[in-house]
Amino acid sequence: MFQQVSPNLYFLVSSSFDSNIAYIDGGEKQVLIDTGTGIYSENLNRDLEKVGSSIKSITDIVLTHSHIDHIGGVLPILKACNPNLHLHRSEGDMINSGDMRLTLSNTFGVELPAMKIQGLLEEGNVLSFGDIDLKIYNTPGHSVGSICLHIEDRGILITGDTMFPGGSFGRVDFPTGSPAQLVESLGRITEWEFEIALPGHMNAILGNGKRYAQMSYEMARSMFMHY
Ligand SMILES: [Zn+2]
Ligand SMILES: [Zn+2]
Repeated sequence: MFQQVSPNLYFLVSSSFDSNIAYIDGGEKQVLIDTGTGIYSENLNRDLEKVGSSIKSITDIVLTHSHIDHIGGVLPILKACNPNLHLHRSEGDMINSGDMRLTLSNTFGVELPAMKIQGLLEEGNVLSFGDIDLKIYNTPGHSVGSICLHIEDRGILITGDTMFPGGSFGRVDFPTGSPAQLVESLGRITEWEFEIALPGHMNAILGNGKRYAQMSYEMARSMFMHY
């Protein structure tokens, strides 16, 4: 079930291998941030209907990175409508050239067909949906094109698989992962202003976001000090 975390912003915590999913009601713009694997797309549709939307109404999908547990859910949505896909350029260019290796779909035995990423994101871009502005930061470490999305005026950070609650963070052993870059990215996150953090997995952090970021940063730094 989607929980409202701020006006027009809802968050669905996954109970499976799927990523968490955020939904923005931007009026004409109906937006998902990450989509899960797609295995549970009927549930997602039902959950969207409960907050007044549906899969076929989605106009935009922003991906925090291209791993299968975040991008797989794009496929059932593309069968229902024609949303714009947004992904950091470093991973979007690969997908647009037909190179699906970074999605790890082979590793997980999923057939992921070619798709077109129209919105190739870069650090500093701002995506505006209704009254919500998402500022894009590139935070590599978990993957080269991982992004965090900052809703600055509401003190909310969507962290993807870069930062998790409880001093935790994304793994660095997938292709293009980098311990040194993850530590650097977590260090950057500690400098931004936010109370709420919405991670790609595990529960939402509904207060003291910066303190959690500091914990993750220090944990990663001590774990990866030899890199
Ligand atoms: Zn993930
Ligand atoms: Zn991932």
